[in-house]
Amino acid sequence: MRVAVFSTKPHDRRFLEAANTKTRHQLVFLEPQLSCETVPLVEGAGAVCAFVNDRLDAEVIAQLTSQGIGLIALRSAGFNHVNLAAAETAGITVARVPAYSPHAIAEHTIALILTLNRKTHRAFNRVREGNFALEGLLGFDLDGKTVGIVGTGLIGVAVARIMTGFGCRVIAYDPVPNPGCEALGVRYVAIDELLSGSDIITLHCPLTPATYHLIDAYALGRMKRGAMLINTSRGAVVDTRAAIRGLKDGTIGSLGLDVYEEESGLFFEDMSDRIIPDDVFARLLTFPNVLITGHQGFFTEEALTAIAETTIGNITAFERDGRALHEVGARRAG
Ligand code: NAD
Repeated sequence: MRVAVFSTKPHDRRFLEAANTKTRHQLVFLEPQLSCETVPLVEGAGAVCAFVNDRLDAEVIAQLTSQGIGLIALRSAGFNHVNLAAAETAGITVARVPAYSPHAIAEHTIALILTLNRKTHRAFNRVREGNFALEGLLGFDLDGKTVGIVGTGLIGVAVARIMTGFGCRVIAYDPVPNPGCEALGVRYVAIDELLSGSDIITLHCPLTPATYHLIDAYALGRMKRGAMLINTSRGAVVDTRAAIRGLKDGTIGSLGLDVYEEESGLFFEDMSDRIIPDDVFARLLTFPNVLITGHQGFFTEEALTAIAETTIGNITAFERDGRALHEVGARRAG
């Protein structure tokens, strides 16, 4: 099948080509993001392969339908950027990669926690400048601290496993408790108890209407003063403007982000010789207790191999049977 692969980076090409050696789909690698303007690039393709910042709203989906696209194969687990109802009405199948390596994102979450706590990002720069002073680098023992996990699916449970290994007490909030988490000794609590009882709060729920700005001014007002907040799920789970106010008044002790609600014009691009037009993001960069990575939680060899293999599996199954292996239906959107 001819597949238009949007938002292609060199690593996408490398891993998708390796996964496609036997199946030999005709992969057309396109650097631009999918949008109304770039839809014409799909000409002749039966499927598009898209990533997290590609635009898949009703307008783009209507254009994809008129181009004869039958499958949207997402290279991601999250599908909050797809108008599933529009795809269903148009008869376009949407497939995703439900699980690739939850360890990749869980371990990146721990990297953010450890770095923010022990300030190794600042220590690295200091030591290279010949500055061996310790002022400003004071951390705390993780042992005995309470970690609150919001969303205990594949990634949340992997984080729980690691944090219990550090000797942390883990509490969680999830409308659907995970027995695997309970087996680790994790206690499920209401969201307000998680907010007020946690020294570290880490977000691993999907972005849905129910989780949009879950961490807003109200939630921040319930947090333990000086708690650490980590978001490696989706940017809009946190109200960034409220988080900035929380950093300024000390409610948030430190903030680690791998995702940002307006990341689509920034992340995955080299902006180092350009002016960042987003003043909210620029303000975040000024805080010494904020650590931002550009949506790299998934970026491991194992995860990229699994993403590419599952994506090719979805395309192959759709071409053969008219059904992808991991379809997403409109009823999952909420
Ligand atoms: P998952 O589906 O296995 O788990 C999600 C969990 O969130 C489920 O247990 C679900 O019940 C829970 N949940 C749903 N609504 C909730 C709510 N309102 N409050 C609390 N919990 C709620 O998904 P996963 O594989 O663990 O991934 C979690 C999220 O991580 C994805 O949706 C995606 O947005 C994000 N993600 C980020 C990266 C990255 O590179 N940073 C990579 C992959 C996934």
